[in-house]
Amino acid sequence: MWQGYATLADMDLHPGSILQIDTLLAGIPGMTGAHLILAEQPALVDCGTQTSADTVRDAVTAAGLGPTDLAWLVLTHVHLDHCGAAGDLARAFPGATVVVHPRGARHLVDPSRLVQGTHALFGRLSPALGGLEPIAAERVVEAADGHVIPLGGGRTLRAVWAPGHARHHMALLDEGEGILFAGDAVGVQMGGGDLYPSIPPPEYDVDAALATLDTLERLGASRLYVSHFGAVDDPSESIDLGRRAQAAIGEAARSAHARAPGDQTALRVAVDAAWPPDDALRTPEALMRWMTFNWLDNNVLGLQGMVEREAAAL
Ligand SMILES: [Zn+2]
Repeated sequence: MWQGYATLADMDLHPGSILQIDTLLAGIPGMTGAHLILAEQPALVDCGTQTSADTVRDAVTAAGLGPTDLAWLVLTHVHLDHCGAAGDLARAFPGATVVVHPRGARHLVDPSRLVQGTHALFGRLSPALGGLEPIAAERVVEAADGHVIPLGGGRTLRAVWAPGHARHHMALLDEGEGILFAGDAVGVQMGGGDLYPSIPPPEYDVDAALATLDTLERLGASRLYVSHFGAVDDPSESIDLGRRAQAAIGEAARSAHARAPGDQTALRVAVDAAWPPDDALRTPEALMRWMTFNWLDNNVLGLQGMVEREAAAL
């Protein structure tokens, strides 16, 4: 079991024995986090991109965990900024069972389509993300809504299906501690900027996202972590901000599409007017982090995909 308070003293250890690990995506701090729950059966929630695998492995090791000590690697969803290191880490920690939503499992066993699709979206930025090493199917557990992951000593982590950002997205609730790992369901806050929604292609669905935020609010968590990046100041205020922002943005995208179908520029202008990203970008650090992987452009693509899907379904 984990020992190593000497090294932990230098790390970002939060109440409830939550170790916040900066995965240093593309070498940039404060952008993408992973969270290690130092319970009897330690669990790592998300793990960053494949290019962050060594950073995360070293952090877990510095926290005192040997190769066979990590019990769980739990993924909020299978976007490469959350799961890309999973294959490498599964190899480094052969005792770990990988937990993912049923819709995400096949992408861990055969990542080729996921990696191809992501690289098509990110183009020349793809090398900074890396790919995903396949994981043996017998090491993957599919967690449907309500699935409970035992952490030992009576502590549990409950999977809460949280679609919207992606259909297979889940949040994780540390039930005894009241700590919620929200992944990308609530939004993104990076370095002094306000929380702002993350709305990527190909599956973003605003109705599902809003229902998810209601679900997360009802959990009444006392602490809430977002993957990009860290703990928010006030869980219910942040959830409410995420809800108002996504409602305004979703509606703006739909009416822009009704006025000018297929006009991506008009959609962007309408969305920016409905919920300006200015406050999210107000520090140079936040601006740089948002721009590094074109996340605001991806939001436009995510919304465009959503309104086109909706129009096709009429
Ligand atoms: Zn993400």
